[in-house]
Amino acid sequence: MKPLFVGNWKLYKTPEEAAAMVIELSKRLPAHMNADIAIAPPYIDIPAVVAALKDSPVLIDVSAQNVFWEKEGAYTGEVSASMLVAAGCKYVIIGHSERRQYFGETDEILLKKLTIAITAGLIPILCVGETQAERDAGETFLVLDKQLVNGLKDLSSTFISDLVLAYEPVWAIGTGRTASSEQAQEVHVFIRKRMAEIYNSAFAQNIRILYGGSVKSENIVELMSMPDINGVLVGGASLTATSFSEIIAQGV
Ligand code: PEP
Repeated sequence: MKPLFVGNWKLYKTPEEAAAMVIELSKRLPAHMNADIAIAPPYIDIPAVVAALKDSPVLIDVSAQNVFWEKEGAYTGEVSASMLVAAGCKYVIIGHSERRQYFGETDEILLKKLTIAITAGLIPILCVGETQAERDAGETFLVLDKQLVNGLKDLSSTFISDLVLAYEPVWAIGTGRTASSEQAQEVHVFIRKRMAEIYNSAFAQNIRILYGGSVKSENIVELMSMPDINGVLVGGASLTATSFSEIIAQGV
């Protein structure tokens, strides 16, 4: 399966900084790689990043970090899925743990976001993951199962055929503590098994499951050597062209 490398910039970079970074990234990557690459900048940077990548010899797609669940209306401050498509986005991250934690996003809200994103033509990257307390209590699989079952409730395998899942243990995000490759592989196997049970084995075999949580050039090779890890979602280490290009080059 072609791996996917996504850089999540969170709340970093002005439009000018964002454009300069993707130009630099494009220069550092070989033109033909057997990998899909995407950058998820803040909303305000999306037009600058799309414009900067227009003539890039390397295909680097753009992702949003979030989306609103309604098509349009009196929702001050929100951005719709069709606006993101019109701005040039291919992907959208949905349910990042920071959105769940700081903005109260529930599985029910995420289900609405997934539905509108897919309807508008975006490829959603749905994030799931347990906290340290949940892992310590032995509830990892229970938590993930709930997030998957409720987040994807009643969506058919045809409707979510392009869906990407990202396993992001909350305790590994921005902490410098990566899940070991075996810990990540174990969870990815569980997620794939649940996809086979909820949908079917062909769907489960084809779905891309990314790992996220303190990915860096020091651990990318080991993580990507795991058979059920199909790419990575990178936060901090995607902020410079040097470190993100190293991760891609070593992980591909
Ligand atoms: C993330 O933002 O999804 C993430 C995994 O962050 P970091 O790589 O910094 O842990």
